[in-house]
Amino acid sequence: MGQITENIEKVRAELAEEAGRCGRDPDDILLLAVTKLHSPEEINEAIDAGITDIGENKVQELVSKYDAVRPGVRWHLIGHLQTNKVRYIIDKVCMVHSVDSLHLAREIDKRAGAAGRTMDILVQVNAAGEESKSGVSPAEAEALLESIAEECPNLRVRGLMHIAPYADDPEDVRVYFREVKRLFDEIKKSGRFGSCFDTLSMGMTHDHGVAVEEGSTLVRIGTAIFGQRNYSKGN
Ligand SMILES: *Cc1c(COP(=O)(O)O)cnc(C)c1O
Repeated sequence: MGQITENIEKVRAELAEEAGRCGRDPDDILLLAVTKLHSPEEINEAIDAGITDIGENKVQELVSKYDAVRPGVRWHLIGHLQTNKVRYIIDKVCMVHSVDSLHLAREIDKRAGAAGRTMDILVQVNAAGEESKSGVSPAEAEALLESIAEECPNLRVRGLMHIAPYADDPEDVRVYFREVKRLFDEIKKSGRFGSCFDTLSMGMTHDHGVAVEEGSTLVRIGTAIFGQRNYSKGN
C-alpha cells in the first residue's frame, strides 16, 4: 500500500473515531483532500484510494494541474479568490469556499450565468478577526448571504467556511468553531436558504478533532494525507 493510501485510511479512521465520540455519523463528514503543492501523480493516488473531492487554494496552480488529474473528481477552490481570476475556474470547480464580498459573489454569478451553470458557494467567516485571513465577521455573514441570495441567481448558498487560528493545542480555538457552528445553525433554522444550506467547512490536519466535535460537515486535510508541503519548490 502506498503512503498516501495508508495516510487516507488513517485519517478516515480518526474521523470515524471523532464522529463516534460525539454520536455523529462519519458519513456526514466529507473528507476534502487539500492538494496544494502536490503533484497530479500524488493526487491521482489519493483518488485511487477513494478521495472524491480535492481542494486547491490558488487559481493558477489549480488550472495548471487540472488536465493531469483524473476526471470525475470534484475540485473545490478554498483559497482567497480575486475577481479577475474567477473566469479561469468557473468551468472547473464545484464549490467556492472563500466568498467574502458581494463584489466577488456578483462576479462568480455573472461568469456562472455565462457558462450556463449554477455555482455552489460558502461564505468564509473570520471568527477570530485575524488580519492575515480573509472572511467576514460573524456579524456580517448573514447579511452577505441574504444579498447573495437576492442578487445572484446563479449561485447556490450552501453554508459557511472557517479557518481557525493556529494553536499548538486546538482546544484553544474550540471557541471559534463553536461560534461558527452556532451561526450556521441559526441561519439554517431561519430556513431562508432552504435545505441546500448544509455545509460547514472547518477543520484541518491539526484541528479536525475539535472541528468534528463542534459540528463540521467537511474537513479540509492536506498534510495528514500528503505529508509536509515543500514551499521552496515554488510550484
Ligand atoms: C492548506 C489549507 C488546508 C489544509 O491544511 P493542512 O494543515 O495541511 O491540513 C485547509 N484549508 C485551507 C484553506 C488551506 O489553504
